Amino acid sequence: MSKIRVTIWNEFIHEKHNPEVKKLYPDGIHGMLAKALAASDLEIRTATLEEPEHGLTQEVLDNTDVLLWWGHAAHDKVADEVVQRVLTRVWEGMGIIALHSAHMAKVFRQLNGTSGKLHWRESGDKERIWVTNPAHPITYNLPEYFELPYEEMYGEPFMIANDAQVLMISWFEGGEVFRSGFTLQRGNGKLFYFRPGHESFPTYYNKNVQTVLANAIRWAKP
Ligand code: ZN
Repeated sequence: MSKIRVTIWNEFIHEKHNPEVKKLYPDGIHGMLAKALAASDLEIRTATLEEPEHGLTQEVLDNTDVLLWWGHAAHDKVADEVVQRVLTRVWEGMGIIALHSAHMAKVFRQLNGTSGKLHWRESGDKERIWVTNPAHPITYNLPEYFELPYEEMYGEPFMIANDAQVLMISWFEGGEVFRSGFTLQRGNGKLFYFRPGHESFPTYYNKNVQTVLANAIRWAKP
């Protein structure tokens, strides 16, 4: 069986400029995830904003089955030409997993079709993530709910497409709720958005978070 070709894209800015984030993710979020998600059925590469064409050349995208996207501080630095290239590959069937603040990434907003705006508060709230669709492949092997002791709060209303299939809903100790995991089909490609993953918390080290991403990669492959 041929391997699923995964590209983890990260803008890779906070990890270089913020010492606390650098301590958490010395190899960048992309480098940490590449290690954490390594498996015999996956061929994982990484790409970052500063590389020529942001590391997302036509050749790389043509050889990517599933693209993970982490961006926050530099959404507007992503070249429109590269955005168009990614959109075209999704329509052709490439899967895409939008992580945390990628809700404002050009690629996500184009695919979502609306602003992607939400309420937020960077306060280290406890987050409880409830699985609302336990029958979906992305929630396989997850408990009824799981918790992250500290996260950035994202709250409703979250401007997402009306055809979104919601799989998970978060509760925050400030009282807010949020549709934290949902899927969309765009052309032949599948999209999954997953909320947790603020850069200054160790969220990607959480085993349930890693389970979600591992499941999502297998689900999103063409
Ligand atoms: Zn954040």
